[in-house]
Amino acid sequence: MMISDLRWMGLGALGSVAVMAPAIADTEADLFVAYPPATHQTVSDRIFLIGTADPEQPVLVNGEPIEYRSAAGHFAPTVPLEPGENTLTLTQGDDTLTLTITRISATPTVPPESWFVPESLVPQVDIARPAGELVCFGVQAIPDADIAVNWADQVIPLAPPPTAVTLPPNYAVLTSQNEPVPLAATPYEGCTTMPAAGELGPPTYSMATRDRPETVTAPGNISRLETTDFFPVAAVTVASGIARTGPSTSYSRITPLPQGTRAAITATEGDWLRLDYGGWIRASETAIAPATAPPRSIIRSVTSEQIPGWTEVRFPLQTPVPIAIDQTADTLTLTLHNTTPQTDTIYFDVDPVVQRLDWQPVLPDRAQFRFQFRTDQQWGYKVRYEGTTLVLALRHPPALATDSLAGATILLDPGHGSENDLGARGPNGYPEKDVNLVVSQLLQAELEARGATVVMTREGDDDLFPGDRVDIINQVEPTLALSLHYNALPDAGDALNTAGIGMFWYHAQAHDLSEFLHNTLVQDLDRPSYGVYWNNLALTRPTVAPSVLLELGFMINPDEFEWITDPSAQATLAAELAEAIAQWLNTNVPPQ
Ligand SMILES: [Zn+2]
Repeated sequence: MMISDLRWMGLGALGSVAVMAPAIADTEADLFVAYPPATHQTVSDRIFLIGTADPEQPVLVNGEPIEYRSAAGHFAPTVPLEPGENTLTLTQGDDTLTLTITRISATPTVPPESWFVPESLVPQVDIARPAGELVCFGVQAIPDADIAVNWADQVIPLAPPPTAVTLPPNYAVLTSQNEPVPLAATPYEGCTTMPAAGELGPPTYSMATRDRPETVTAPGNISRLETTDFFPVAAVTVASGIARTGPSTSYSRITPLPQGTRAAITATEGDWLRLDYGGWIRASETAIAPATAPPRSIIRSVTSEQIPGWTEVRFPLQTPVPIAIDQTADTLTLTLHNTTPQTDTIYFDVDPVVQRLDWQPVLPDRAQFRFQFRTDQQWGYKVRYEGTTLVLALRHPPALATDSLAGATILLDPGHGSENDLGARGPNGYPEKDVNLVVSQLLQAELEARGATVVMTREGDDDLFPGDRVDIINQVEPTLALSLHYNALPDAGDALNTAGIGMFWYHAQAHDLSEFLHNTLVQDLDRPSYGVYWNNLALTRPTVAPSVLLELGFMINPDEFEWITDPSAQATLAAELAEAIAQWLNTNVPPQ
């Protein structure tokens, strides 16, 4: 998969990201290590060694023989790591390879030259809050310290919270190690409210105790967001503004804001803006202008219209307000923020996909529209502003010929590509990008033989960013979008005992397909199950069609790698996958 490449994660910094080892083993007999590289840093207390060597001879790690080897001589043992530098020497006959793995603390530690953890001082970036709002301070430091903040002519005492833990990164769930972990340093916190007037500036943190009192200033300045004379209003300038639950890419995505959306700014943090409905967006995706009042709208009547392949629902508004869309298997709920209903009439014609449209006011300033679908399989949606009218387009199912995939367009996205984006690597260094393309082309042939139109995001070793692939999906508007990958694990994973089929979905419209493909491949090909995951990924986030990211096996598992690279197994997999896709479509596409 994508553990080793931030491009695909969308999950922020991974800490122990590897720099790739040399390309491919010269010959199968050579002692070769594909992962980790000769020098590597990790927060993990163990690491797996992915490599290969002459199957006839033992491989030793610091003198200990590697127990399990695949038929081809591949290995994937996990070795424990001590804090600090670990030297691992692999030998086979006269061949020797030395790796230097440095285990660093999973959470920041207090440096020798200070009592405080500098990168934990709050705020790290400039922030602005309105008068009366809570302003909180925090720092990690040595234990049992007497710490206070000086700010805005106030002295704010800090104290440790009852629990001094943090949470591992999201990817820790892939190795079932996502429980809270203790902080290496002691956290201290305290709050006050933003004064309505007076000097502000960056807070200073003072520690009175210890033989060497210390005062440090936080990197970020704190200012008051002025809304007395005017309201700063942000208008979304990009096609789809990325809204989040907080002021950084570590925070979860919420419904993207269509171009033109306007909302009052209620706080800033670094280059992020908090909008009055609660979502955060990057300032660079907006144009900011002063207004004499925050954008608000009423809503009255709503209409619908059928166009080829879609039902378009129009919501006339006075200004483009922020929206939220929540999808379940058979419903889609649209929320209009900063909107007060004056609605008496809704024209919603008899519709091929929508059984009924219900609506309700959510006081004080939201309107909610709930579409009840005729079946529990939706085929996609799009949303845009035309001036101040919101247009929500709901997709109709494809018109398929009987017992054929004619009428279906299936987009296949072979993951990764080019020397810049190898993806995961097998024990002999063989890169995921190549097997993704091989299997995608086999699947393309199988689907075309069943009558489908197939669109490939790449036919060769192209260097495509996830965003480029998503653009292709939004241009092509396929019936289904499938991104094909093979998997790997974070350093703490058990490479030897982790194998199998994994499916990743994001919108409810893709859940049933991901589950069906997973179950079918596991059962019919007798493959292990890695599981079905909800995952915030570029290739699962498109809304225009059910979009699934497939992980068809683990590159770093010695035995499974031999199955992954076996041409006849690849052909069987492609045929089985095509059959499963055909079955799912024929089951879920209502007869014409
Ligand atoms: Zn991948």
